[in-house]
Amino acid sequence: MTYLLLMVPGMLLMAWAQWHVKGTYYRYAEVASSLGMTGAEVAQSILQNMGVNDVIVEPVPGELSDHYDPSARAVRLSEGVYGSTSLSAAAIAAHECGHVLQDVNHYFPMNIRASLVPFANFGSQFSTMIVMIGVGLASSGAALGNVVINVGIALFLAAVLFHVVTLPVEFDASRRALKIINDLGILQGDENKAAKRVLSAAAFTYVATTIYYVLQLIQLLMMRRRNANY
Ligand SMILES: [Zn+2]
Repeated sequence: MTYLLLMVPGMLLMAWAQWHVKGTYYRYAEVASSLGMTGAEVAQSILQNMGVNDVIVEPVPGELSDHYDPSARAVRLSEGVYGSTSLSAAAIAAHECGHVLQDVNHYFPMNIRASLVPFANFGSQFSTMIVMIGVGLASSGAALGNVVINVGIALFLAAVLFHVVTLPVEFDASRRALKIINDLGILQGDENKAAKRVLSAAAFTYVATTIYYVLQLIQLLMMRRRNANY
């Protein structure tokens, strides 16, 4: 019952955030910018203006699969962004360049986020299973059960932390993006407001995911309280 009370609102929030970002993305994917630059041109122009010469801009398959790969020094733009002159394309291309600027400026939260990746991946995949095993051991009276439960929760905490640290990274990339597309005149007047809407909707998906992870953590802590032998 507590599972439903906690997890169902979390899942609904995530679903709403996904629906909202897609809706906003498609809405402004239909509107061409007055300057008519493609996503690829927007990214190249921003990088050039920032004096970044060693990052390539290339297309990547998929939808909303846009990202910056720091190890490959590549801004990868999805098919709907790379060659599109829409407001959505400009906003997303600029956002990925925001991540490049973070990398160039050694933006601290980005480094923490990168170092949390392996723990977060492991934690989000296995921690619930580890806690369950711990609960099983604890209920059979094994002292080891409590230790296993705590290890599982600590791993999950790394995943939660990863999502929490993702928030400033994503918000900062969008802030940089909106400033630069305005400064360089890539978008004009109300076009900037549309870009802000697209990026705010995208940012909210990260907020929703973080809330969902925090709820899962609460769930695990409740399980621990119920089952550990203290
Ligand atoms: Zn981002």
